[in-house]
Amino acid sequence: MPDLTLIPMAYCTGPKTLGPFKVPGSNGKTYTVYFRRGTWEGACDCPAFVYSKSAEPTCKHIVRVQTHPDDYCGWGEQWGEAPVEDGTCPRCGGPTTTYLTAT
Ligand SMILES: [Zn+2]
Ligand SMILES: [Zn+2]
Repeated sequence: MPDLTLIPMAYCTGPKTLGPFKVPGSNGKTYTVYFRRGTWEGACDCPAFVYSKSAEPTCKHIVRVQTHPDDYCGWGEQWGEAPVEDGTCPRCGGPTTTYLTAT
């Protein structure tokens, strides 16, 4: 067993991290992507995601949001950037929440 230490880390919980994000699909429809607070797993309402049998489903809409930094924040102290003193997200200025994180 690895030695897991839980320490508090700040994460962005603004709309640019959790969503919902409206993503245009290739068929003219618009899909809604959001990310779950605390786990940061993406979810989408497109058929590829909803009917996926994968244990960790994803889809091109989720990837698209995550690869468009103008629209997506996804900031977490865990990923190296320092938090702002007053608790706002250093990337998007949104609210942050602290979670105990295994390092
Ligand atoms: Zn999708
Ligand atoms: Zn943010």
